Amino acid sequence: MPVSQLNTEQINRYKRHLLLPEVGMEGQLKLINAKVLCIGAGGLGCPISLYLAAAGVGTIGLADVDVVSPSNLQRQVLFGVSSIGEDKVKAAGKRLKDLNPDVKIIEHKTVVNSSNVLDLVKDYDVIIDGTDNFPTRYCVNDACVLLKKPNVYGSIFRFEGMVTVFAAHLENPDRPGERGPCYRCMYPEPPDPGSVPSCAEGGVVGVLPGIIGTLQANEVLKLILGIGRPAIGRLTTFDALDLEFKTFKLRRDPACPVCGDHPSITKPIDYERFCGVPTLDPKSLAETEAEVRQSKSGFSAPPKSDPSLDSRGLPPGYAFKPDWEITPREVKSLLDQKNDFLFIDCRLPSEQAITRIDSAKLIPLQQLAQRIGELKGHEQGKIVVHCKSGGRSMQFAQILRQQGFKDVKSMAGGILLWNKDINPGGPQY
Ligand SMILES: [Zn+2]
Repeated sequence: MPVSQLNTEQINRYKRHLLLPEVGMEGQLKLINAKVLCIGAGGLGCPISLYLAAAGVGTIGLADVDVVSPSNLQRQVLFGVSSIGEDKVKAAGKRLKDLNPDVKIIEHKTVVNSSNVLDLVKDYDVIIDGTDNFPTRYCVNDACVLLKKPNVYGSIFRFEGMVTVFAAHLENPDRPGERGPCYRCMYPEPPDPGSVPSCAEGGVVGVLPGIIGTLQANEVLKLILGIGRPAIGRLTTFDALDLEFKTFKLRRDPACPVCGDHPSITKPIDYERFCGVPTLDPKSLAETEAEVRQSKSGFSAPPKSDPSLDSRGLPPGYAFKPDWEITPREVKSLLDQKNDFLFIDCRLPSEQAITRIDSAKLIPLQQLAQRIGELKGHEQGKIVVHCKSGGRSMQFAQILRQQGFKDVKSMAGGILLWNKDINPGGPQY
């Protein structure tokens, strides 16, 4: 039953809205009767759902499968220390109900994929994409096109973010008679797996999701109220370092496989296969689990090395390459025996500041070409290179061998494995 009248308490709460002719009583009732679904209760989902709940949006669905971990607290402002280890949707629900008991919060603790997306999306008026991975983005986009729902899109990375509204069923306000584009019109193909680092890999400044998320919340309110010019057909980017917004026109692609004139996608597809990556990154799941465990056990408990490692100290199933790699344990014994070898850390200085192995000399992979002269005289000697998890150090070793260095090896698993086996309790980042 739609709400048709505000009670005294609600009139008090929403006074500042009621004073706006663009909102008023009629608009506030539209908000109270609206149903929005926020996919992702992370950096973007937090400010989005906080502002929508505060504004009085009557039904807010939250879809997220994660639990709260300590590294979320730098930007995910719904949560506190007391929520660590709790399901995000549950912790968020409590906070939002406290903010506004009028609001109905629907918790969807689930991964959003082709098997559930249509069911999930169908009952909501506006969908908000606050996810951080490509399979979910394409999945949400296709479902929104198929079910004719506006998709309020935001994304963030390091110091930059973007926001737009995809709505292939609504008119592009800048081009009367033409419909708006969808995510696939802008990005027909997903990026090559591994070519685009995630926030978990590349970092993100904590206030950025607050800025982009509140812009998304603003677009949601405009769509519900039917006021202003929605960001359909316009992509606005924000650069936090320059305090600069830029707006680009986006147009619908008549050849788009899902919203085009002759669509080939008429139901959800297998998005993990399409993108070539899993929806949930197993590495970040393991990291969350370790963070929560560490925070629950208290940092004072004596750390133990990871029991899942095999007899050589490698993760189960690790494809060790003896010609190219050396285990952290072998490196440790070289160091203990004071063996004469050159030990190189090829990460960035910002990473070295988080965690380091004291005897390693820092030569970032990016600087190798300019600094290779520093390695003169070591062509015949033993060199071991390490990075974060073993990828960059392998590249570094390959380059050195091509340059005629005879005995170069990469430390398997990088400093993350070192911090599980040799220096347990050392930072994982
Ligand atoms: Zn499209």
